[in-house]
Amino acid sequence: MQRRDFLALALAGSVMETVFAKNRHARLGRVVVVGAGYGGATAARYVRMLSGGRIEVILVDQNANFISCPVSNRVLGGQRTLEQLTFGYDALQRQHGVKFMRGSVTAVDADKSRIVVAGKPLSYDRLIVAPGIDFIYDDFPALAGAQEQIPHAWKAGPQTRNLQRQLLAMPDGGVFTIVVPPQPYRCPPAPYERACQVAFYLKTHKPRSKLIVLDANPVMTSKRALFEQAFRALYPGLIEYVPGSELQQVDVATRTVKTAFDTVKSTVLNIIPPQRAGKLAQDCGLANVERRWCEVDFVSYASSVLPHVHVIGDAIDSSLPKSAHMANAQAKICARAVVDLMLGQAPDPAPAYANTCYSFVDDRQAMHISTLYRYDAAKESMQAVGASKLSDHASVEEGVDADAWARHIWDDVLA
Ligand SMILES: Cc1cc2nc3c(=O)[nH]c(=O)nc-3n(C[C@H](O)[C@H](O)[C@H](O)COP(=O)(O)OP(=O)(O)OC[C@H]3O[C@@H](n4cnc5c(N)ncnc54)[C@H](O)[C@@H]3O)c2cc1C
Repeated sequence: MQRRDFLALALAGSVMETVFAKNRHARLGRVVVVGAGYGGATAARYVRMLSGGRIEVILVDQNANFISCPVSNRVLGGQRTLEQLTFGYDALQRQHGVKFMRGSVTAVDADKSRIVVAGKPLSYDRLIVAPGIDFIYDDFPALAGAQEQIPHAWKAGPQTRNLQRQLLAMPDGGVFTIVVPPQPYRCPPAPYERACQVAFYLKTHKPRSKLIVLDANPVMTSKRALFEQAFRALYPGLIEYVPGSELQQVDVATRTVKTAFDTVKSTVLNIIPPQRAGKLAQDCGLANVERRWCEVDFVSYASSVLPHVHVIGDAIDSSLPKSAHMANAQAKICARAVVDLMLGQAPDPAPAYANTCYSFVDDRQAMHISTLYRYDAAKESMQAVGASKLSDHASVEEGVDADAWARHIWDDVLA
């Protein structure tokens, strides 16, 4: 090699190095994440990690703490307390430099790339929205104002505590009714897991009581054979399961519901209302599918409505189960894509991820379903790869696995 060539190469190398070093420390911009639940908190953590700290991340939530819906049915069974499911955002701030801001987001102005938090504007280069779900009370408006008497407990927190209080206060011989909404709703197997947890408590403490499950769906929406087996084997004569029971009337004062088949008066009434994307998604026009769910591109989770806005988690329109595991997986794909886009690179054109969902049937035994999904470019959606894998039966070993699943996902979201 000529001395001149060598010098040129060395110079080019040092220029590259300087550019690289400069890029490494350059701020690539700001990502604001709205909603610090399973989807949002994961996305915030991963944008910081995958950008090597070069993207500023502000995570906004109306609540000060993260309270996990997964495992919250076990509060009713008496195996967990809500405190054990409540976590702060300190590790995200300390370990990853995520900036946490508490406040309710009331508007998204995509033209000006800013949102309104607690009445004040906050600008972004890219916005990730993960508002979870809200409830539809159009058919039963009285229910909206009756949350003290008839809690849904479908967002873990004060309502979980309220439902547990009502269960504890119920006399032996009382009737506990769970009303399951039509699909799609958050976490398909969770109503049946809740039935098992309530039944476990009743069997142990108030064996003359009855649990009625009024399901608007024609059959159980997830792990059907396994739940039917659990109902039969563990709670014979205690659980009455009535499929095809769409709600027709509700009398709040007497906790009485009417379906096509039955009129049921309950001591404790747990109506899980139909759902749609969180209110913010409705208010800012992101929920463009039947004014209910948000349409996204599954490669980057970019909204099909607002530029530079991404949506993840329960709020999106898809045939995927609405689960914490899914929200967490989508958040990682979205975070990778957002970092790539801010670096001027194309996102991975063929993302894949799995969903695993455990359900406890009593105090120790659990069972699971898991499915692998891959992006199908022709259908522009995530498609299941092969059949789902299901447990043969619930077991104590799977109960241990279920606890490990919860610990791992909490770490992946918040630690
Ligand atoms: C009883 C029950 C059991 C479940 N069990 C499991 C399970 O075992 N496994 C599993 O995988 N999934 C389970 N799920 C489902 C899981 O909880 C949800 O799928 C998951 O929480 C969805 O994550 P997300 O980020 O979309 O929404 P969320 O986790 O609900 O987060 C949304 C966040 O957005 C915030 N927010 C909303 N609007 C605003 C606003 N305008 N301004 C500021 N903040 C806002 C909320 O405060 C909240 O923190 C269960 C659900 C229930 C109800």
